[in-house]
Amino acid sequence: MEQAIIGYHRDAEGDWVAELACGHGQHVRHKPPWTVRPWVTTEEGRQSKLGALLECKRCGTLRPYVPADRDACLVLLRRSVPEHSASEDEAQFRDFLNRLPASYFVVEDDQGLLLASGGLVVEPSDPSRAKLCWCIVDPDRQRQGLGRAVALHCLRAAPAGVSRVHLETSHEREGFYEELALAAAHGLQSER
Ligand SMILES: [Zn+2]
Repeated sequence: MEQAIIGYHRDAEGDWVAELACGHGQHVRHKPPWTVRPWVTTEEGRQSKLGALLECKRCGTLRPYVPADRDACLVLLRRSVPEHSASEDEAQFRDFLNRLPASYFVVEDDQGLLLASGGLVVEPSDPSRAKLCWCIVDPDRQRQGLGRAVALHCLRAAPAGVSRVHLETSHEREGFYEELALAAAHGLQSER
């Protein structure tokens, strides 16, 4: 899954390692002709790639939702919401998954365990508008860039014609969406 570069350090051999939002590191070498990344050799170049996305194999795979994911998605929700609202949220989420009025995606680890999910619904009354919906991250895997990666994927997968995406915010998620708006403005470039 793609994760944003948030910093750098050098390994014992002096090679540059990009620090990713998920907490994993990844070598970004400039060893022509095999690996060509001239930007990594200068401070200015490295700074310019902050926020750029790298594929992080250790963060699992992002793929479209399939009906067989339904129970695992419901478990993910149950683990993520406070006890008092669980049954109401679960009923709504179950109904959403049954109808699936959206592009919906899941992130799974290499064992097939679901870590996060999220989708984008186009407003039936106005196809230029869409909203992010049911973006859920496993509580043990929060603050690792998974939610942001799912949300960005949804934005990029938005059908042609969608010009505005509504972000439903609650107070506790404001920071996340501020970060997302920043990422959308700066981080949509992809560096592999
Ligand atoms: Zn990672």
